[in-house]
This record gives sequence, C-alpha cells and structure tokens, in this order.
Amino acid sequence: MSKYEAVIGLEVHAELMTDSKMFCGAPVVDSVEAEPNVAVRPLCLGMPGTLPVANKQAIEYALKVALALNCDINKFNRFDRKNYFYPDLPKGYQISQLDHPIGVNGYVDVTLESGEVKHIRVRRVHMEEDTGKLTHMADGTSLVDYNRAGVPLLEIVSEPDIHSAEVAHAYATHLRQILRYLEVNSGDLEKGVLRVEPNISIRPTGTDELNTRTEVKNLNSFRILYMASEYEIKRQTALIESGGSVVQETRGWNEERKSTFSQRIKEDAHDYRYFPDPDLPAIELDQSFIDAVRAGLPELPASKIERYQTEMGLGAADAKQLAAEKRTAIWFDAAVTAGGDPKAVANMLINNLSAMMNESGQAIDDIAVTPDSLVGLLVQVEKGVINKNIAKEVLAEMFANGGSAASIIAAKGLAQVSDDGPIRDVISTILANNPNELAAYKAGKTKLRGFFVGQVMREMKGKANPAVVNQLLDEALKS
Ligand code: ADP
Ligand code: MG
Repeated sequence: MSKYEAVIGLEVHAELMTDSKMFCGAPVVDSVEAEPNVAVRPLCLGMPGTLPVANKQAIEYALKVALALNCDINKFNRFDRKNYFYPDLPKGYQISQLDHPIGVNGYVDVTLESGEVKHIRVRRVHMEEDTGKLTHMADGTSLVDYNRAGVPLLEIVSEPDIHSAEVAHAYATHLRQILRYLEVNSGDLEKGVLRVEPNISIRPTGTDELNTRTEVKNLNSFRILYMASEYEIKRQTALIESGGSVVQETRGWNEERKSTFSQRIKEDAHDYRYFPDPDLPAIELDQSFIDAVRAGLPELPASKIERYQTEMGLGAADAKQLAAEKRTAIWFDAAVTAGGDPKAVANMLINNLSAMMNESGQAIDDIAVTPDSLVGLLVQVEKGVINKNIAKEVLAEMFANGGSAASIIAAKGLAQVSDDGPIRDVISTILANNPNELAAYKAGKTKLRGFFVGQVMREMKGKANPAVVNQLLDEALKS
C-alpha cells in the first residue's frame, strides 16, 4: 500500500437541453453550430428593467437528475445572486442556488471495469445559468457570444469520496450516461455542454484528512480527466514527499506536455456576496409534481445492466455494452419482448449489427432491421430453415434493403439443405476429388476433417445443415 492516497471530489456542470433559457424566452441553440449572438433577449443581455421568470421545464429536468442521483429533494427552492463582474455575464451576477439547492445527499454506485462497486455520495445538485463564451484574439481583443448566457445549467457536486483517476473517470462516465438516459443533456464534452472539474488533494493513506486541494478546469474529454487526475496525484505526492506543500489553485491542462499548469490562485473565502435574488420568488415544489416526475423516470443503465445479467443470463461485458446507449437498450428490450432469446439477440446486436452500423454510420433507430424483424430471423435459425452463417448473410441483406428474413430466404433460395441425399452426394464427390487428403486422413492426419467439412460447405454454398454434414461425413470417412 502506498504511503499517500488521493482525495477527489468532482464538480460537474451540465447544460440542460430545454427549449428556452433559464430565466427568459431566448431559445437554447447549439453553441458550436449557431451564429454568435442569435439566441439573445434583453434579459440575458442584462438590460435594465427586465425581470427573470424561472423555466418550468428546466426545473423538471433538474428534478429528474436529482431524483436519478438518489437525492433528497428540497421542496423549497430559492435562487441566489452570485455577484462577480466579468464580460461573459452582462448582468454582473450569475443566478444560482446557494442555501436551497434542489437536491442534496444523493449517491451513485459506480461499477468499475473489475466489477468492483464504488459508492460515491452526491453532495448537492443545484440549478444555475450558464455564462457567455469569450474568445480571446491574437491582437488582444476579445469576442463575446451570449448564445450560452442564461442557458439552464445544473451543477452536480460529489463528496470527496473518489480516490483514484480510474474512479473519477468511471464516476464521470456514469453521470454522463444518466444525463443522456434522462435526455436532459447530450453529453458532448467537446461542445462544452458537459464540463467536469476534479478537485484533488493528497493525504496519508488511512487518514481522513482533507488537505489543500487544486481544481483542474477545462478538461474536454474523459481521457483528459483521467490523465489530468493521474498527473495531479503524482505531482502533489512528489511535492509533499520532497517537503513542499500544495498551493490551493485552479489549474489547466496542457495537451502537448500532458501536464497541468497553474492558472490562478484561488482565495479561500471568495466573496461572491451571495444574496437571494429579489426578482425571483421562491419556488415550492408540490409533492404531486415530484411524484409525477419520479414516475416518469426511465429505467436507468445500472438497473438494465443488473437485469440483463440476473434475469437474462448475459455476461457483464455484454450487459454493459447493451446498456451503454439508451436507444440500443430500448431496441434490445423490444427484441426480447418480441420473443427473441436474449443471448441470441445480444449476440446479433453486438457481433453483427453494430459492425454494420459502424460501417454505414447509422444509429440504431435509423436502420432497416427492426427488433421484430431480427426476431423473425432468429426464428428461422431456431427452426433450422437456415444455419448461423447464412443468418449473417440474411441479416446483411435485411440491413441493406429491409424486408423480412423469410422473404429474403425464399427470394434468394437460401434455405438450408438437411436432406441426406444431396449432402451424401456432395461428400462422395469431395472425397473422390481429394484422394491425397483422404489417404492422409486415413493415415492419421485427422485435422483434415475440417478441410472436408469446408469443401462440402463451399460446394453447397454454405446452405448445408452443419449437423447433418458432420454426421454423414463421419460415416463416409469410416467406410
Ligand atoms: P468550492 O465551491 O469552493 O469549489 P466545495 O466545498 O463546494 O468548494 O467543494 C467542491 C468540490 O471539492 C466537491 O466536489 C468536494 O467534494 C471537493 N473537495 C472538497 N475538499 C476537498 C479536498 N480537500 N480534496 C479533494 N476534494 C475536495
Ligand atoms: Mg469549485
């Protein structure tokens, strides 16, 4: 066991995919694709005389997330002003929730690659608004785009329950998956709609000290979250081992050097002079509203993964892969509901369909193969009409042009041959045409059996029933 252990807490900011902004009617647009400053109204430009109105859809989305993260819900919600002056927020303050966040005391159970489960507490989930985007030009001027200013933003703060870069990565991935399942955030780190900031410190292993920490910002992928956390843990450990001390600061990530660097020293008691926003009345959430939102939550990935293993007997890796994307999981569930054997459906989906989708660049909702038509194909295999190899050929045809397995099998004459007669004829021909191999086989080179099977299958264009081929070939080779 190493002398020091890492202590990590994550702050995650997630923009909510609502129709309009948090406190005004300006639309929420794609911050990368939209022209700058097209989604602005007087309020999010900080014009005097404008009054904010809280967005009910945003509150509903925030509530969904808080419930999915097992939080206690605060019915009493109040918005506070976090005062600071910076051109990315023209009002001069950000509306946030300080003392009355929508959710507190939540948790998630994150399963690691090894199967180990980590229980990570969620301290709070609160609503706020995003800031505009500044672009600093080479000539010293700065450009500002207010499309993002006022977009509903959720801050999800974990307790410092994370002790490695691996767990930080797994927790962030888990959160992203939940947000995508809830359809409140696209999870696009590159676009900045989801931002993950680890707070990292070091302590002697086995103690519960919370030492001076650094916060790493502007990490635009989970890979970088992992690398930056690793780097910080090593840097701080080396610093402490050599008798130095960690400075409380915000650090950035240098992708070329693969290292973190000091951005700004953070004062301990940053005085934002928070106070309740006098323009926004407190909001009291009705129990009936909370109950309705809870009832409308989708089944979450952790529950699906569990169910796929315990009820359907799938392996952990397959279960995880099927549940990774909600649309894939829903498609899989539909195929099983339509009567497909879970293992056979999972196999087709993971080993065959996903490769086809990768190649064509299609999402599962857009492909010509439906859950029902896949089950139709599996039925043909079960009934012995086609074998598994031909099934792949039929699937490729279904994928390319749609249609049912039965109609493709009929149209292309792909039905499997199980009758002894024709198979026996082909076997005789093959043995007659390969006297050297036959002699070698009889002299003990039994590996050649596979060669004969292959020749027979090829001659019959893959349509022979493999079980019958094997049986008749054995008989022929013995004689
Ligand atoms: P602030 O708002 O100033 O960033 P918070 O107290 O809200 O500070 O904590 C932010 C995050 O930092 C939380 O996720 C928390 O778990 C984590 N954190 C707090 N203390 C430490 C520490 N000593 N080491 C690592 N993480 C910490
Ligand atoms: Mg912080």
